[in-house]
Amino acid sequence: SKQSVYEPLTESGAVALAARLGLFPEGTPFICQEIGDGNLNLVFHVFDPQTKKGVIIKQALPYAKVVGESWPLTLKRAVIESNALRTFADYVPQYVPKVYYSDESLAITVMEDLSHLQIARKGFIAGKTYPLLSQHIGEFIAKTLFYTSDFGMNQQQKKQLQQNFINPELCKITEDLVFTDPFFDHETNNFEEELRRDVEALWNDDALHLEVAKLKRKFLTEADALIHGDLHTGSIFASDTETKVIDPEFAFYGPFGFDIGQFFANLLLNALSRSEHEPLLAHIEKTWNVFTHTFAALWEQHNVEPYAKTEGLLQDVRQQTLIDAVGFAGCEIIRRTIGLAHVADLDGIEDQPTRIHAKQLALQLGRQLILHRQTIHEVQQIRSLFFQTF
Ligand code: ADP
Ligand code: MG
Ligand code: MG
Ligand code: MG
Repeated sequence: SKQSVYEPLTESGAVALAARLGLFPEGTPFICQEIGDGNLNLVFHVFDPQTKKGVIIKQALPYAKVVGESWPLTLKRAVIESNALRTFADYVPQYVPKVYYSDESLAITVMEDLSHLQIARKGFIAGKTYPLLSQHIGEFIAKTLFYTSDFGMNQQQKKQLQQNFINPELCKITEDLVFTDPFFDHETNNFEEELRRDVEALWNDDALHLEVAKLKRKFLTEADALIHGDLHTGSIFASDTETKVIDPEFAFYGPFGFDIGQFFANLLLNALSRSEHEPLLAHIEKTWNVFTHTFAALWEQHNVEPYAKTEGLLQDVRQQTLIDAVGFAGCEIIRRTIGLAHVADLDGIEDQPTRIHAKQLALQLGRQLILHRQTIHEVQQIRSLFFQTF
């Protein structure tokens, strides 16, 4: 990548960049649209209107818009994102967009255009089921976690790789917004007044605080593997046949259970918003089953750790990962309901009493998952907790 001085790209700048990368015939009459959500990053879709072939140019902005204000946020997250996409592509190229180019000083990643797919959250809200989603995500998580862990790679090389993913500012966003602020009367929280009693109950729940503090400590300290760090259904493009994971700017070396937990939480949030729960609950179970089978097969064949064949170790890793995932899922459900960043699955429920009720159930389910996670030995128990709440 050549040295340039950072400035936000304009649409014409994005076209000029697409033209000079040599991915399109000379003279292509590009159309460019900025399609980002506008909080943290610019996303340009640059394409040839005749062939529909295009690229995506994502650029980090040097600030985040939070509660109406702007605060500085490191541009290094663009390097983290492009490096994470490239690292994931070493193990699961079928599940990530190709990275064509990146420029550290401009904080830019140029990647494969996935416009033929749909963001899974939007599809779920519209009633889609995505039959292969859990097969693909289970495999994505198993392979990326195994191969970047101390079981799947040279343990000295793992420490080298870990240095490329030291991501303190983005981790702090998660530490604050997922693990801290929603559990206290903090100004970043955002909830409807009708929920105040339920929210204040969480703020005064000492038993819950203790368990969330334990989960936060895991997030702060456990460097199991390179995790995506933001694996909600808005970071997944899907169709009936394809699945692609995008947006790993929060990637870092973290606990095995975190991505699984965030994914489960966002499936549960969608399940809470509709009357047909089965496809979402089935996705949770299948994701877990695919994850454990794939992870076990990799362990059997490729584990580099001398204790790999020690009776009980794989079972211990699997058991702890499920317990942690359930706890992380609980935190994610609560923060997506009353914290800074909500989900359209719940906020989009138009009827106010129905919406408030769904959010009350979400808070209860999140709390139950956190408090009872140690009793979860089989993934089907998540379904039981869901229906006990519902
Ligand atoms: P942010 O980090 O700001 O959330 P995302 O990477 O999630 O950015 O991208 C924001 C939106 O831009 C996505 O929801 C999607 O609509 C669009 N987008 C991002 N990457 C691609 C891609 N590779 N192909 C097509 N659209 C994309
Ligand atoms: Mg977004
Ligand atoms: Mg995103
Ligand atoms: Mg993002």
